[in-house]
Amino acid sequence: MSMRFLITGGAGFIGSHLTEALLAAGHEVTVLDDLSTGRFENIEPLVGRPGFRFAIDAIANAVVLDRLVSECQVIVHLAAAVGVQLIVEHPVHTIETNVMGTEAVLQAAARYRAKVLVASTSEVYGKGSRVPFQEDDDAVLGPTSRSRWAYAASKMVDEFLALAYYRERDLPVIVARLFNTVGPRQTGRYGMVIPRFLTQALRGQPITVYGDGAQSRCFCDVSDVVLALMGLALHPDAVGRVYNVGSTEEVTILELAHRVKTVTRSASPIQLIPYDQAYAPGFEDMRRRVPETTRVRNLLGWEPRVPLDEILARVASFMASYDSPRSAAR
Ligand code: UDP
Repeated sequence: MSMRFLITGGAGFIGSHLTEALLAAGHEVTVLDDLSTGRFENIEPLVGRPGFRFAIDAIANAVVLDRLVSECQVIVHLAAAVGVQLIVEHPVHTIETNVMGTEAVLQAAARYRAKVLVASTSEVYGKGSRVPFQEDDDAVLGPTSRSRWAYAASKMVDEFLALAYYRERDLPVIVARLFNTVGPRQTGRYGMVIPRFLTQALRGQPITVYGDGAQSRCFCDVSDVVLALMGLALHPDAVGRVYNVGSTEEVTILELAHRVKTVTRSASPIQLIPYDQAYAPGFEDMRRRVPETTRVRNLLGWEPRVPLDEILARVASFMASYDSPRSAAR
């Protein structure tokens, strides 16, 4: 059955891929995005497609949000301040955007009884050391004097609020905790490691590995993440719960740097940069971040299909075409 989705943050990296996939599956999609970190270019090719609409506006515009929510059956709330660099540099913006934005979306959804999938983040596991992270594990955050933790705390409030609407107001909500997601259109401007490393490698610049490079992550291709989000948003039994969404293929950041060099055949040197130089002094990184994905697998049969080397090759070829004179002239 075809439905109308509202994707907040739909002009962003993940949102634009989700919008494409929903349209391809025969659904209608309205994108709401203020283009703060999203780009119009990401949705430009969709303009004119049957069922596609967009509004360039902030979630804080209550009149616009109310109208768009009144017209849809399902909301996927992706609009948020993301990226470690952005968060450390603009903590007020991060907290306000993430907390007030989700509050506004849930309030509007409650007025029209729309289903809401709230995108959260693996950051909420904080410094938890029991790897892999399971949805009901304790969250261990650093002190409020370190602005880095403001992101995790803001998304935790979003999760609490979404689950409270489910329990107290019977609103159908789903929380998806996204682990590191990568793919074409992700920008390195806000600190994300794979676009940064690939850009550095393709330009022959040093590849900047922070700390000792022994910290690890699991990177999931955006096409896989989009399938999980669609599955969760549409499955009637998904509501009222939190789901980890991510890959379990773990790689250290130093190993990642070597694999980026191999994929791009780059001669770039690998440069280790102390955390204090890379971020603000006192920055705390997460050593390991691996999801336990049994819950989403049991519900949807979902598993990531794209391995890391394939992800790197896809993003590298996207970047190479993006940097070409033809693209630059667009
Ligand atoms: N990182 C790095 N060099 C960079 C950017 C990031 O070594 O130029 C590291 C970062 O310190 C972290 C990992 O790569 O350990 C992933 O960083 P990202 O910001 O992509 O995501 P996070 O998992 O920290 O949210």
